[in-house]
Amino acid sequence: MATILPRETIVSIILFTLLYSWKRLVGFVYLGVCFVCALMYGMVGLTYGHIDKNAIDALLYTNFNEAFEYATSIPPSVFGWYGSLILFFSAVVIFLKKHPQFLGDLNRKFLGLLIVLLVVFSGNTFVKNLFKGSPLHITDIKSTEVHFALSVYSALQDSSRGQNKYSIFNRSADWNATADGQAATNYVVILGESARRDFLESYGAPWNNTPWMSNEPGILFENYLSASAGTVPSLSRELYFNSDADNFNPAYNIITLAKSAGYRTVWISSQGERGGADSPISVVAKMSDEYDFVADDLNPLNKVIKKTDEDLLEPFKESLSRSGKKLIVLHLIGSHPQVCRRTDDKYTEYFHSKELSCYIESLRNTDHLAKEVTEALKAREAKHGEKWGLLFTSDHGLDFATDQNGWCLKHIDKRQGSYEVPFFIAGSEFKHREIVRSYRSGLDFLPLIASWMHISSPRLPSLPCHWFKDEVCANQETVYRYSGELINYHDLPSYSLQTFMNENP
Ligand SMILES: [Zn+2]
Repeated sequence: MATILPRETIVSIILFTLLYSWKRLVGFVYLGVCFVCALMYGMVGLTYGHIDKNAIDALLYTNFNEAFEYATSIPPSVFGWYGSLILFFSAVVIFLKKHPQFLGDLNRKFLGLLIVLLVVFSGNTFVKNLFKGSPLHITDIKSTEVHFALSVYSALQDSSRGQNKYSIFNRSADWNATADGQAATNYVVILGESARRDFLESYGAPWNNTPWMSNEPGILFENYLSASAGTVPSLSRELYFNSDADNFNPAYNIITLAKSAGYRTVWISSQGERGGADSPISVVAKMSDEYDFVADDLNPLNKVIKKTDEDLLEPFKESLSRSGKKLIVLHLIGSHPQVCRRTDDKYTEYFHSKELSCYIESLRNTDHLAKEVTEALKAREAKHGEKWGLLFTSDHGLDFATDQNGWCLKHIDKRQGSYEVPFFIAGSEFKHREIVRSYRSGLDFLPLIASWMHISSPRLPSLPCHWFKDEVCANQETVYRYSGELINYHDLPSYSLQTFMNENP
């Protein structure tokens, strides 16, 4: 049974049966509360993932105009979910009203059995830990009711603690930005996923997996650090302006900045639209003039036809073919673990394990995608004279680990490699290859992008240094641990691919 229905759902059904057979009214109240919670969840959960501080802020601070603007961008699948929800609850209520004797007089043995099942399904991890003497966590109880109450409680606490007066739906930013005469017409940002730079040939890796990045004229940054070691902790800081400030306003981000300077903005992603805690990234993506989540997990077709980063190319070329100034962001699924899924189990060179071999291959695929994007930009320049700029980086690296299949790379925030990502800029203006060895921080990603796009705004701080010359800039060597602690990158131990190869010949 547990394979058909999630354990949490079985627990809810048993709980309802017990309450309803005890007192019908209590059963109906339980049903009503579930219905209201599901409605609320639909509003924020389906589009923004789990109930968190952002979701609560959204409910608390969203005004009518923002809500209306947002509602017009809700995908039809959400309405489908609401429709089925209302149908399901009405069907249950109508059935129970028509059959008042249903679940009316359950015998004691059956009730006893239900209680045992309730404990088994909801509490086996909890009970196991109790007997083993392991520390007990209330979150080990497998029950939607318990988890929902805990999430709402902690989200409310976070929300009331923060001074955040801006909802994630707020879109009005007064950047007053302008782009100067040197700005190009077409800018593309390729946001890679889980790419650790020492695995790239262009950063010294011993295999030929970056023919594009190793040869294309441009600037290679040797010491760019991602803001953190996970997609959300990194990008929720890099894509927004002053994300650490008390009065942080999500309307100030890379997309609204480019828009304010007159760029048409396009976000094309092969990542999930609302998977788990991806919310802060989807929020930025959805402020674009145009966005396309090619692998949208609510589209049933995507369960059958698996989407890859290659599928970003077609919508990219279509967006590029429009006239006028534009910023196109390509957010890849790239080298995310289990990476053999991304490469269809293929790899060119075997290196210690299948997973590491696919990892090298996935980076080769990313490089190939960047090459195709570059060629499209060059073709556009040749035909229409439109200057272009292309920036490639990754949200974070990964760290060496092992699992039952041997060596692999995992999301870990404990060593330097997890923060060491590639950063490469190409474009019409470059005839040679240059190298910047000074540190650059993902925490300054937005001001750096502004400089790159020749955008100025009274909101932006004055430049601490010339980002694109090999000059030392202040405060470029701090990173965020998962815990939210800001630390000096040099305080973390180093464990490079070279060290790994020396230890595992
Ligand atoms: Zn990531």
